[in-house]
Amino acid sequence: MSDCLFCRIVAGDIPATRIAETERAIAFMDIFPATPGHALVIPRAHADDALCATDEDLAACMQLASRVGRAALDGLGATGVTFQTVARPDGGQTVFHLHIHVIPRVAGDGFSAPWEPVAGDPAAIEDHAARLRGAL
Ligand code: AMP
Ligand code: ZN
Repeated sequence: MSDCLFCRIVAGDIPATRIAETERAIAFMDIFPATPGHALVIPRAHADDALCATDEDLAACMQLASRVGRAALDGLGATGVTFQTVARPDGGQTVFHLHIHVIPRVAGDGFSAPWEPVAGDPAAIEDHAARLRGAL
């Protein structure tokens, strides 16, 4: 898609600091890093998000994200990694080409989970599980 930012990065029309490439996926640095070493992994083929990508591209992206995460431990001294992908505007997505954030973590880095854990109502959890099972 010529109007997609990340497709333009795949094509080499827009510069990116690439760190790894496979047949199906590319990893490059995020230019607004959440923590030092924040990278993105994307499929070469356009897919809007993880809801519509092929199984092959989902697997290829997660495999490369795992490799990049291990490199963050070995190469940057990270002691943890947050993998994140979001879908659609209400999911928080701002670039509509599937990407997995690989965010190196260390204790006390200030990066926090986007929710406060509050125990759910067991009946509501059961109900939501039943509705998800029915839709799968
Ligand atoms: P999201 O908000 O999950 O859709 O993430 C989009 C990510 O793309 C953000 O973390 C941006 O910082 C990043 N981003 C946007 N433009 C570029 C670019 N040209 N090169 C690298 N990363 C980018
Ligand atoms: Zn694209």
